[in-house]
Amino acid sequence: MKTLIFKRGTFMSKVCVIGAGSAGIAACKALHEAGLAFDCFEKSDRVGGNWVFKNKNGISSIYRSLHMNTSKTKMQFSDFPMPDDYPEYPFHEQIADYCDAYVDHFGFRQSIRFSCGVVSAKRTSTGTWEVLAEDGETRTYAHLCVATGRHWHPRIPSPGYPGEFTGVQLHAHQYIDPHDPYDLVDKSILVIGFGNSALDIACELGRKEQNKRLFLSVRRGTWVVPRFFGHGKPADYNIVHPSRAVPFLQRIVPKWWSVRKRVREIEATIGRPEQFGLPKPENEFDFTKAATSQELYNRVGSGDITVKPGVSKLDGTHVLFDDGSREEVDAIIYATGYNIVFPFFDEGIVPAGEKHLSLWKRVSHPQIDNLFFVGFLQPLCAVIPVAEQQSRFIAGVVTGSIALPAAAQRTSECAEASSAVGPAGLASGPYSLHVNCSDYVRELRRTADKLSNGPVAVVGW
Ligand SMILES: Cc1cc2nc3c(=O)[nH]c(=O)nc-3n(C[C@H](O)[C@H](O)[C@H](O)COP(=O)(O)OP(=O)(O)OC[C@H]3O[C@@H](n4cnc5c(N)ncnc54)[C@H](O)[C@@H]3O)c2cc1C
Repeated sequence: MKTLIFKRGTFMSKVCVIGAGSAGIAACKALHEAGLAFDCFEKSDRVGGNWVFKNKNGISSIYRSLHMNTSKTKMQFSDFPMPDDYPEYPFHEQIADYCDAYVDHFGFRQSIRFSCGVVSAKRTSTGTWEVLAEDGETRTYAHLCVATGRHWHPRIPSPGYPGEFTGVQLHAHQYIDPHDPYDLVDKSILVIGFGNSALDIACELGRKEQNKRLFLSVRRGTWVVPRFFGHGKPADYNIVHPSRAVPFLQRIVPKWWSVRKRVREIEATIGRPEQFGLPKPENEFDFTKAATSQELYNRVGSGDITVKPGVSKLDGTHVLFDDGSREEVDAIIYATGYNIVFPFFDEGIVPAGEKHLSLWKRVSHPQIDNLFFVGFLQPLCAVIPVAEQQSRFIAGVVTGSIALPAAAQRTSECAEASSAVGPAGLASGPYSLHVNCSDYVRELRRTADKLSNGPVAVVGW
């Protein structure tokens, strides 16, 4: 693989990285390794973003019991393995510590400005970025790399359900444990949603001894994958770590074959969602759209969780469902996802508040050459190793070893890809956040090779 070692400080064009979560530190490391000067601004007093419990940044929030839902070998950085004594699915605290250790190991902590969020980032007439930070200073950068995460701005169904509810309502983002921020013990609870947070929270609150009733409202069917299955291996055992995504694997394992094999394994071990009263999955099996839970079917099969269809109306202390049933509940937890927002940009730079984000190759702004994004996808594998590959690509562009196509071409490629609509009307182009990691990383590398200026590709590839 082609590699270039850059002499530190060779390139004068300074980069600003916003955010030092796991994606932001991947970006910092790639820039550091490429010898590029950069400043990283972080709202919090430490790195790790979402993995920092009770994060002081005031925006990230996770529940007390959270463990990763991707296994450690598939989540780790390619050149910095997680410690041997970490369990297969580490606890949030361990990931936060791992992020800290990564920064110190590669030695770029001095380039991160902690407790110093970015307030605004404005493009000047010459194309540079003026970045105003919470310390009141405005600094100018040649490139901007956004790594602010996409799990901190709660999305509530809009328009809201008709009617009014008089009990407690909260988003999964606010949920810490059965007593915090509300006492949810010995109550009837409705959890709305069918993603990983919905299932974790429903299972945590759904034990009979904890609650009167736990209802789980599911509108659309999806596959459920336990954390361990198939000879006790982690669910993502067969997924290739993105750093090892090589083209020949695609040829020897066709997609239809691995999908069929996975569905058979699921049917033979834990069963299909329909067997537990859940809606039939709308799509063929796809790991990126599957929910992960070891416990869900056990709780449902034990009568601790009652599955309900979509909510049709709120009525004081009651909730009505699409099948005409009506239940009395004390609290509603909306596990209905997150909006992607960039409050530091002027309106129009990046469409905000939407579920999808149009980016060229999911890293570059289609129209603005010096604006990059890391970690804004929903990969089949874990986010960290994909963010690592994106970061190398970005470092390649900034050093000049990769030449971006013209804005017009990037825009037209984005438009083309966005018109490809997948099953069940889900956009499968750049607007969709779902990516198959190996396919995506292969595509990114192919693109880097194609656009490479001379014999050099990207540092570390
Ligand atoms: C409950 C839950 C469970 C999850 N489990 C997994 C899992 O098992 N595996 C997995 O791969 N992913 C998981 N994810 C997704 C997870 O969020 C990402 O893997 C990871 O946190 C992404 O890192 P990030 O750096 O993109 O974002 P974040 O971790 O959110 O980090 C963003 C950083 O940007 C900073 N920031 C934001 N705005 C500003 C600003 N204006 N100025 C300066 N700094 C700013 C924040 O303070 C934060 O430190 C989970 C998400 C949730 C909500």
